[in-house]
Amino acid sequence: MFPAAFDYRAPASLAEAVDILGDRGDDAKVMAGGQSLIPLLKLRFAQPALVVDIGRLPNLSGIRRQDGHLSIGALTRHVEVERSAELKDICPILPEAAHWIADPLVRNRGTVGGSICHADPSGDWGSVMLALGADFVAHSKSGERVIHAADFFQGPFTTALKPDEVLTEIRIPLGSGHSGGAYNKLERKVGDFATVAVAVQVELNGGKVARAGIGLTSVGEKNMKATAAEKALIGQEPTDDVIAEAARQAAAAAEPKEDIRGSVEFKKDIVRVFVQRGLRTAVARAKEGKR
Ligand SMILES: Cc1cc2nc3c(=O)[nH]c(=O)nc-3n(C[C@H](O)[C@H](O)[C@H](O)COP(=O)(O)OP(=O)(O)OC[C@H]3O[C@@H](n4cnc5c(N)ncnc54)[C@H](O)[C@@H]3O)c2cc1C
Repeated sequence: MFPAAFDYRAPASLAEAVDILGDRGDDAKVMAGGQSLIPLLKLRFAQPALVVDIGRLPNLSGIRRQDGHLSIGALTRHVEVERSAELKDICPILPEAAHWIADPLVRNRGTVGGSICHADPSGDWGSVMLALGADFVAHSKSGERVIHAADFFQGPFTTALKPDEVLTEIRIPLGSGHSGGAYNKLERKVGDFATVAVAVQVELNGGKVARAGIGLTSVGEKNMKATAAEKALIGQEPTDDVIAEAARQAAAAAEPKEDIRGSVEFKKDIVRVFVQRGLRTAVARAKEGKR
C-alpha cells in the first residue's frame, strides 16, 4: 500500500525543526530512521499531514562520557551502539541489547531515540533504559525538558513526549564503578521482536546491592519496570535465594498475553528464568569491575 499524501520538510537545524513542530506539531510526525514510521505510513495507521525528517540534523548522534553519565544522541543508530568497543567495556548491556534488535538492515538505519519514541511494548531499548534509570532530554521552542524513563512510557506506542517536542539525548547514570548489567531475549527466529526479554542492571556496594534496575519487554502494555523485584534486592547480598525471590516477584508482576508466541504461564516463567540468569551475569560483571 502507498502512504496517504503528506508534506515533507527536512530542517537543517534543531532550532528549525522545533520551530516547524511549534507551528504544526499536532498534524506532523517526526521521522528519524523511518524503520517504524514508514511501515506505519504505508499501512495508513499513521496519516500525518507533514513529515519532519530530522535524520540529517547535526550534533544529535554519537556516544560520549561526561559528568558521571553516558550521553547517547537520539539519532545514534543501533549499529553504533552494537559496535562500540567503549560501551562493551563500560556498559555491556547496551551493545548486548543492540545486537538483539531486528537484523543488520534495520540496525543500520534505525535510531535509539526513534525506538524509544516509538514506545513499542515489544521494543528492546525501553526496558534497557528503565533498568539503567536513564533520563531523556527533549527540546521544543520553549526550551529543554528532562523526562525520567520511568515516567516516559505511558502505554502502547504512547509516551510523555508532547507533539512539539524532539527527543535529543539519552543520559545514563554511570554509578560507582561496581555495576553490571545483562540483556536476555527469547525470539522465535533471528530478527524477530521478543517473545519475552529482560534487562537487568545492578550496582554493588560492600558486596550488597545498592541499586537494582529490572526492565521487562513484551509482557505488558508498555516496557515495564519490575519495581517489587528491584526492592527485594536492595540492601541484600545477591545470594541464590535473594535472586530467586526477585525473579519470582518479577514474574508475578509481568502481564503477558497469550498469543502465537506462547501462553501466559510460559511467558511468566521465561521472565523468572531471565531475571535469575540476568542477575547472575550482572552480579558477576559488577564483581569483575565491568558494568
Ligand atoms: C523488520 C523489523 C524488525 C524490527 N525488530 C525490532 C526488534 O527486534 N527490537 C526492537 O526494539 N525494534 C525492532 N524494530 C524497530 C526498529 O528498532 C526501529 O528502528 C525503531 O523502532 C524506530 O527507530 P527509527 O529511528 O527508525 O524511528 P522512526 O521510524 O523514524 O520513528 C518512530 C517513531 O518515533 C518518532 N520519533 C523518532 N525519532 C524521534 C525523536 N528524536 N523525537 C521525537 N519523536 C521521534 C516518530 O515520529 C515515530 O512516531 C524492527 C523494525 C523492523 C522494520
